[in-house]
Amino acid sequence: MNTSRPPLRSLDDALADLLGHAAPLGRTESVSTFEADGRVLVRDLVSALQVPPQDNSSMDGYALRCADVAAAGAAGLPVSQRIPAGSASQPLQVGTVARIFTGAPLPEGADAIVMQEDTEVLADGRVRVLNVPQAGQWIRRSGEDVTRGDTVVRAGQRLSPAEMGLAASIGLATLPVSVRPRVALFSTGDELVMPGTVPPESMKPGAIYNSNRFFLRALLQRLGCEVSDLGIVPDDREATVRALREASASHDLILTSGGVSVGEEDHIKPAVQSLGTLDLWQIAIKPGKPFAYGRVGTAHFIGLPGNPVSSFVTFLVLVRPFLLKLQGATLTAAPVTHLPAHFDWPRPDKRREFLRVRRNALGGLDLFPNQSSGVLTSVAWGDGFVDNPPGRVIARGDTVSFISLSDLLA
Ligand code: AMP
Ligand code: MG
Repeated sequence: MNTSRPPLRSLDDALADLLGHAAPLGRTESVSTFEADGRVLVRDLVSALQVPPQDNSSMDGYALRCADVAAAGAAGLPVSQRIPAGSASQPLQVGTVARIFTGAPLPEGADAIVMQEDTEVLADGRVRVLNVPQAGQWIRRSGEDVTRGDTVVRAGQRLSPAEMGLAASIGLATLPVSVRPRVALFSTGDELVMPGTVPPESMKPGAIYNSNRFFLRALLQRLGCEVSDLGIVPDDREATVRALREASASHDLILTSGGVSVGEEDHIKPAVQSLGTLDLWQIAIKPGKPFAYGRVGTAHFIGLPGNPVSSFVTFLVLVRPFLLKLQGATLTAAPVTHLPAHFDWPRPDKRREFLRVRRNALGGLDLFPNQSSGVLTSVAWGDGFVDNPPGRVIARGDTVSFISLSDLLA
């Protein structure tokens, strides 16, 4: 038996290679702006109008001409009109003020708003201004948010609530986005049991619950994918071939976990190779390492390691950017924060490590004590990873690179 393994390759190299295969799907659809959260925009959004449309008041108070209020507390001015939000204003008569409310259009001729707290309404209804106003005060200018012709959101942006609101502010009820990638997901492993089918006290020796299926499905859904969950495929060549063939016809990606090591029970490699192509990669990261990329018909194939933390981490660092690129998203590296380690890491690995850590109240990072690739508690406990270069010893107080899990899960 040939036990030689391909050489370890760096994560950056593997990612570049993987992204080289991720041609954007190119299929687009129009969705309601309400439903666009997390979707990737495929055309620039250009504004046909100014936001706000007119100069308007940012306070409840009075619109006036500064020249009419030379001194604070001078004789009061009569109120010549009332302008609630949503109504039109008339030109302001000289020597008068206009009662105005937040968001209401500024009357022509007015050059300042005085908030009502800075005024006194006299017995005869005239309004006395208590502080000398500055020209322009409490006025929101037309176009100060968006100018006509501005690109407010660029193609390739993944939409989030703020962009949905911004799109609505320029009048867009629907948005052009990439279709959702169709992903077939299955787990391999005869030891796996679905929660709910066998109670914990009746689990056979060697059996474990399938945890990868749950987080992988949720991760895929967060990335905007339409997931076909094909469940557990037994460690059997024929069953694996059948599942792959079925999935390949109607999916953009087949994602599996487990079975990509080089043991005899790892059936993914020969099964994919019998239908298409497959490369097994050994990536110099920990947790992680085994990873497979290939094609089955028109579908991409990605095989993740079975160990839960390895599966989780390789999904975030490789599959996530892959799926974003399929949707045409502009890729940006997860933001890195430099923070002090409040732990020691005296025996680093030769591979680049993603250590599960948590920010503490002192502004430093605590390390989860068990960094084994099977210990999913470390990911749930942590709020991010230290991205530790190969062989780097960490001593308490050293500055390390922290990547927040919430940035990767967004
Ligand atoms: P494999 O990559 O198939 O050799 O699996 C590596 C380790 O991950 C083994 O201990 C498996 O039992 C475990 N494993 C594989 N798939 C899953 C899964 N879906 N959920 C939980 N553990 C898994
Ligand atoms: Mg297995």
